[in-house]
Amino acid sequence: MFQYENAWQGALRRIADAARASGRAPGEISLLAVSKTFPPAAVRAVHALGQRAFGENYVQEALAKMDALQDLRDVEWHLIGPLQSNKAAAAAARFAWVHSVDRAKIAGRLAAARPASLPPLSVCLQVNISGEATKSGVPADEVVALGGAVAALPALRLRGVMGIAAATADTALARSQFRLLARCAADLRAAGLPVDTLSMGMSGDLEAAIAEGATMVRLGTAIFGQRPAATDAGA
Ligand SMILES: *Cc1c(COP(=O)(O)O)cnc(C)c1O
Repeated sequence: MFQYENAWQGALRRIADAARASGRAPGEISLLAVSKTFPPAAVRAVHALGQRAFGENYVQEALAKMDALQDLRDVEWHLIGPLQSNKAAAAAARFAWVHSVDRAKIAGRLAAARPASLPPLSVCLQVNISGEATKSGVPADEVVALGGAVAALPALRLRGVMGIAAATADTALARSQFRLLARCAADLRAAGLPVDTLSMGMSGDLEAAIAEGATMVRLGTAIFGQRPAATDAGA
């Protein structure tokens, strides 16, 4: 009856199954629906099913979507794509979360632009867990220093870490990269920076991520279907 109902329910089932397989409670893992490249109507349809957290990669595209969906008061918008300095002010004003903070300069820009009327912006540090030079993210051994810089900014709330595993059929490799991200979160806690979020796992690797402790999985394809390939890289 609803266009995305089967896919959305199926995604929730995959999360619950993966949680149980690891001896975890399904309620420990939240679902971020990644709506990049899909029109406002698609977000509206999935919102009608009960989904509230949506992830976007491109600030301009997201702002247009937010404007088109203003009547939906309770959408929680997450920015998960690379963030350029010149978009930081707009991002700080319109998103509830930014998962892609990978340098102190961007954190400072976000903090300076976060409206005082809003609660602190929830922030995850993006960590380069695949080791690929083309991927964004802070190296794992710089996470604690960056976390300290973010935690010092009252307009930001340090929530945790985000990572993207290499696109691979090798489950053991994906798991080792997710394990590295989990260790980064543990390092932050050990440094006295309390974090509650491990943002890891996408449509192709959510089971591996949940096995390594993911608390938020970011699913696009599994809910909305295939995206046009050319728009997939993030910008
Ligand atoms: C596009 C994207 C996703 C969703 O990917 P799917 O494979 O479609 O689930 C998750 N995280 C980030 C950072 C992305 O850019």
